[in-house]
Amino acid sequence: MTTAGPEEAPTGTTGRRLGQLADLPVTVLRGVGATVADDLAELGITTVLDLVTHYPRRYVDGTRMVTIDRLAAGEKATVLATVTRVSAPPPRGGRGRRAPARVQLEVADRGGSLTVVFFNQTWRAKQLPVGTLALFFGPVTLYRDRLQMASPTVEVLRGADEGAGDGDGGDGAPSTGRIYPVYPLTDKARLTSARIGRLVHEALDRAGRFADPLPEPARRELRLVDRTTAFAGIHRPRSMAQVEPARRRLAFDELFRLQLALVLRRRRLHEDARGIPHVTSRPDGSATLVEQFTAGLPFPLTGAQVRAVGDLVVDLAGPLPMHRLLQGDVGAGKTVVAVAALLIGIEGGHQGALMAPTEVLAEQHATEVRRLVDGRVVPDPATLGGTRPLRVALLTSRTPASERTSVLGGLADGSVDLLVGTHALLTDAVVFSSLGVVVIDEQHRFGVEQRAALRDKGRGADGTGRDPDLLVMTATPIPRTAAMVVFGDLDMTVIDELPPGRQPVTTAWLRTPLEVEEAWARVREQVASGHRAFVVCPLVEGSDRVEAASATAEAERLAADELAGLRVGLLHGQMRPADKEAAMEAFRTGELEVLVATTVVEVGVDVPAASVMVIEDADRFGIAQLHQLRGRVGRGGEPAWCYLLSASDAPESAARLEAMEQSTDGFVLADVDLELRGEGTILGARQKGRSDLKLAKLLSDRDLVVDARALAVSVVRDDPTLDDHPLLGQELRLFVDEAEAEFLFKS
Ligand code: ADP
Ligand code: MG
Repeated sequence: MTTAGPEEAPTGTTGRRLGQLADLPVTVLRGVGATVADDLAELGITTVLDLVTHYPRRYVDGTRMVTIDRLAAGEKATVLATVTRVSAPPPRGGRGRRAPARVQLEVADRGGSLTVVFFNQTWRAKQLPVGTLALFFGPVTLYRDRLQMASPTVEVLRGADEGAGDGDGGDGAPSTGRIYPVYPLTDKARLTSARIGRLVHEALDRAGRFADPLPEPARRELRLVDRTTAFAGIHRPRSMAQVEPARRRLAFDELFRLQLALVLRRRRLHEDARGIPHVTSRPDGSATLVEQFTAGLPFPLTGAQVRAVGDLVVDLAGPLPMHRLLQGDVGAGKTVVAVAALLIGIEGGHQGALMAPTEVLAEQHATEVRRLVDGRVVPDPATLGGTRPLRVALLTSRTPASERTSVLGGLADGSVDLLVGTHALLTDAVVFSSLGVVVIDEQHRFGVEQRAALRDKGRGADGTGRDPDLLVMTATPIPRTAAMVVFGDLDMTVIDELPPGRQPVTTAWLRTPLEVEEAWARVREQVASGHRAFVVCPLVEGSDRVEAASATAEAERLAADELAGLRVGLLHGQMRPADKEAAMEAFRTGELEVLVATTVVEVGVDVPAASVMVIEDADRFGIAQLHQLRGRVGRGGEPAWCYLLSASDAPESAARLEAMEQSTDGFVLADVDLELRGEGTILGARQKGRSDLKLAKLLSDRDLVVDARALAVSVVRDDPTLDDHPLLGQELRLFVDEAEAEFLFKS
């Protein structure tokens, strides 16, 4: 690696490119041989690019450290000091009582020296030889008139053999005015933070100025520092004030690359598309299927539903296939919107498909959809009246063979208009005559490939067909900016309004047996007034069988004790399908008043008379799951209650349960969830290759996400091939995997 060219401009297309760093193995750096390379590999660092994007996890501000002369006995303190003496007397031999093995250090900073002792940690003598610079955090005591720190937490900043870095004055004692980055390490990698820091310094020194792929005007408008400043500021800030601007710039780069990839992906999908411009009105002016459908509903659509259908109509009528995400809270009424989309497809003689993640949900959707489209007819010249009833079919792995044959036949000859089902829809045997609209419910349960597989069914086996419009729905809201990252290749519609008359479910976290009695009293009271109650049993680690057994036992216990005299039923995953159905039906009709269930009720069970939900061991569930479960009650427009039973006082679960008590808004809870769990869980499988977000935080960097999105959209609009932005193009290839790059950049 040579030193960078003479260019002075802080940004521009000349200068060091990340691609160049990606081509250099870490062994080009001084002192990096096979051993150190192995240690770096433990941290996922094999190239110089990996190294300079291995960011500090925090910083120790040497300028703000209390010096030893200022320490007082009786307080906890952090000291940044160099080891000046180590004594580790061998454990006393003989038969007497053994004293604990004791390692004693003298450590010094500008202010003085201090004794540090460790008991039964003999390895400390090896870890902290004379000359080591480290942080010591622990209680300060006075022992024989000398300050002492016993068994502190230690963070080695520089090994004894590593010499003083720049700014250290060279005498081994830390100078003031220095910020120490603390790098993530693993136990296996025998590296210190200081060692990594020095390698990074060397890499940055030799890299010189970085080329900046961000167009200068954009960079100025977004108030982002240039890339050279950013790398320097994150790895070797001269003051803490430099860190955040540096982090923001580098975080922006991460988000911008991701958004560029998503926006390009969308663009490519559209370029390749053979969409269907769907029919949204009738030449004779008579009511379309959708118009008949909405007019026939027992309720008016909410404003949000009207807006959502409006979005769909525009997409469906257009020549490009729709790729839209429909977000809405539990009970917001997404099904009606989905059916509207499917009917628009059917209006023009195409078919619709609705895919759900579980059989229970698929069956329920089929029942619901059949009810909703009951009485609707489609043209059929073969009949006397020229029409026939719209045909809805259900296909799951449980569909009997004869029925399956008939459904498959109907799909192929076009006599099945609307297919509802599970993954079973994806099998090769399912061939549509003309698939027009695809709706995927609970999309997070399906992979990107499954989404694509169902969409591909439109093209048919010979590939001559067209691309159906795609609507994916999620009942687990995710924050808007997170959605932009995870589903940035989809358009988004949010149903942000619940049907009128919904009352927020009164939610209480019950901790003690005395408090829990309130829940059972409420169940008895509600059942007495004609309502029904769910009791959700704890998740049991191990097997479904164990979980089923515990639910069974709990149902028996409740029926004999707190809920004696009530008709208590049972629903768990180990029951035979017919028994499950029977239990659900009995609960729906009121033959059963209380349903004790495992989480099989999580998705989609719609029983308007249910007004109480009791969730046992609620701390075992995540926020999204609790919110889903709670959404099963209060659908009848009458008051409803949700009781979260948990004696846990772990802060994490307390935060979840308190959030549940305070809000019934899925979007608010999604924010809390993101805050508690971090982005990892949301990003999940969508994160490919090197596109990991290392610095960007979806919650606190919302503005960056929005800005990155906007810039990506405008760049791709003006330069869809990125030919005029060669640096961006190169960089993108670097961070997406090969298959994705091929898709994004195929000409
Ligand atoms: P989700 O968005 O959770 O899938 P659903 O589509 O299952 O919600 O709707 C929940 C309930 O609300 C259903 O019983 C449905 O019939 C009812 N519903 C939907 N839209 C409306 C509306 N505009 N007014 C009143 N009730 C509605
Ligand atoms: Mg639903």
